[in-house]
Amino acid sequence: MTLNVCSRWVGAVLLACGAAVAAWAATPGHTTDFPLIALTDTTPTRIELGAHLAYLEDPDRKLSQEQASGPLQTWVGMDRTSPNFGFTDKAYWFRFALDNRTDKTQQRLLELPRAFIDDVRLFHLHDSQLITKYALGDEQPFVQRVVQHQNLVMPLTLAPGVHQIYLRMASSGTIEAPLRLWEPAAFQAAAAKEHLLAGAVLGMLVVMIVYNLFIYLSTRDINYLYYIAFVASYLLFWSTLWGYTFAYVWPNEIRWNSIAVPVFIASACVAASLFADSFLKLRRFSRPLHWGVLGLAWASALLLAGSFVLPYQLIIRVNSAMILVVSVVALVCGYWRWWAGARFARFYCLSWTSVFVGVSVLTIGKFGLLPSNFWIDNASQIGVMLLVLLLSFTLADRINTDRSLRINAQAVALAHAQKARASQKALIDSTAQANRELESRVQERTNELHDALEKLQTLNAQLQRLSNTDSLTQVGNRAYFDEALQTEHKRASRQKQPLALLLLDIDHFKSINDTWGHPAGDACLRYLADFLRQKVQRAGDVLARYGGEEFVVLLINSTLGDALDVAEELRADIARLEIPIEGRNLRITASFGVASAIPASLTSTATLVADADKALYEAKHHGRNCVRAAVPRISTRQIS
Ligand code: GH3
Ligand code: MG
Ligand code: MG
Repeated sequence: MTLNVCSRWVGAVLLACGAAVAAWAATPGHTTDFPLIALTDTTPTRIELGAHLAYLEDPDRKLSQEQASGPLQTWVGMDRTSPNFGFTDKAYWFRFALDNRTDKTQQRLLELPRAFIDDVRLFHLHDSQLITKYALGDEQPFVQRVVQHQNLVMPLTLAPGVHQIYLRMASSGTIEAPLRLWEPAAFQAAAAKEHLLAGAVLGMLVVMIVYNLFIYLSTRDINYLYYIAFVASYLLFWSTLWGYTFAYVWPNEIRWNSIAVPVFIASACVAASLFADSFLKLRRFSRPLHWGVLGLAWASALLLAGSFVLPYQLIIRVNSAMILVVSVVALVCGYWRWWAGARFARFYCLSWTSVFVGVSVLTIGKFGLLPSNFWIDNASQIGVMLLVLLLSFTLADRINTDRSLRINAQAVALAHAQKARASQKALIDSTAQANRELESRVQERTNELHDALEKLQTLNAQLQRLSNTDSLTQVGNRAYFDEALQTEHKRASRQKQPLALLLLDIDHFKSINDTWGHPAGDACLRYLADFLRQKVQRAGDVLARYGGEEFVVLLINSTLGDALDVAEELRADIARLEIPIEGRNLRITASFGVASAIPASLTSTATLVADADKALYEAKHHGRNCVRAAVPRISTRQIS
């Protein structure tokens, strides 16, 4: 809005100036080396004098006004509307004539809107008489100014007739002479507008500083400090450049005022470099750029210190060049980060592009390559205003970006955690499954082992039975009998109970074999064994084939009498047997030897067997088919 008003205002003024130029061009008798401006009742209230000047270079800065106006000097007509000689060590003289064609004395104000020019002198001549002389510039205390304004303003009292005005400018900075001639009332009105504009600019900068300071205090993000330092540097640079600080802040500090501009340029460079490095996170993304930008910050810091000691002519040039370098580097880094995918860099690029354009225009203007007008004079200001606004927006945008990145990262972390939990659960499940499978496999193997063991036990039992059984007759064999005899012998000895032994032998068995054949003999043996098995049923009693056609019966807890009874009964039963062989009945008899004793621990089983055998021998000897008892031994107790 303010800018709009301003531009319209400037446009109107330019139009008016155009009219004035046309009027002046039509004035007869003027020369380009001493331009004449006619003042009539219709002359515009503001005249841009740029193109109505003649100038003279004074390389040694030695000419006096008289020498400058002398015939030996070569004055040149100005060919630019905005005289700008850039950085120069020369002094420059300007002159023009004012012809008051009215019949009244006219008041005019000559304004030089360049507060930083060190030394400005005005010589006002009328009828070859020096009637006014001013010495201004920033080497004079502010109070000495004839008009208390941030720009250099010189009042001229113009009686009717022709007046010659000579101006001499010398400065360690740039020489610019965008001079304006004002009617006092118009000047006051324009100054009021200019102050309003400057106040708006300063106010905006201060607001941005305070606002971002608050944000810094709550976020403690160092970028805000760099930003604030940059904006503050710019604010001071700008208000010093345009004479406001000298007018309102340090009106008597001439020395400081003369170096303040390079100081603030350097501090802006330091802040901008640090901001670029930190904001674009160069350290993380490019070490060379990081160190390069930090190098610029250090170089700027050195220039800041140098501003206090080095010659102004040198330091102002170097610092002006430095701000260009910093702008270019900050811009390049920004575009590089944007190109590399950092979305938050786009507003940063936009802001630096605007300031870059603005500062470039100002700097090029400083070297005298551009005319002076509102947009060019304020290009850097407009650029920096955009920078200040956009950078503040950039910072807010980055906070937003960072926050959404953080939220995204949290979401990703959450998803990862869920995934981790899911895979942990899957792991637990599969471990449990594997355990179950292992258990069932172990169970399977255990069952198989049990089965195998059972089979083995069965086989063992079968083997045991086989090894204890006589294969022909299926009663116990000799080994089985020997073991049973040992066991029962011990038990009987322990329990002091009688143990009886019956030995029976088939009579004349050889002749059966001989008569009927060996298989018939076998069948006969099997038949007798089956018979004996039926007879010997008492628990603990043992039947076995003792060998050949001999059988043995062990009767536990049986006296000799009991055993003789059993033997007699068996003998009688055997004699009655009719054994069916090959369709005929075979009859056999058997002889019995019986022995019984309560075994002493020292007596052996062999004794009992030998006794029974002896008794059997006796039975055979006594005609067979009879029972004989063994004669009791002394070492054993005879029970009858
Ligand atoms: P004695 O009355 O004195 O006992 O006379 P015996 O013929 O029975 O006795 P001897 O000792 O002379 O003969 C026993 C016979 O028994 C001899 C043998 O051929 C027969 N014999 C031994 N074991 C078997 C067998 O397993 N099967 C058959 N068929 N014959 C056998
Ligand atoms: Mg026999
Ligand atoms: Mg025999």
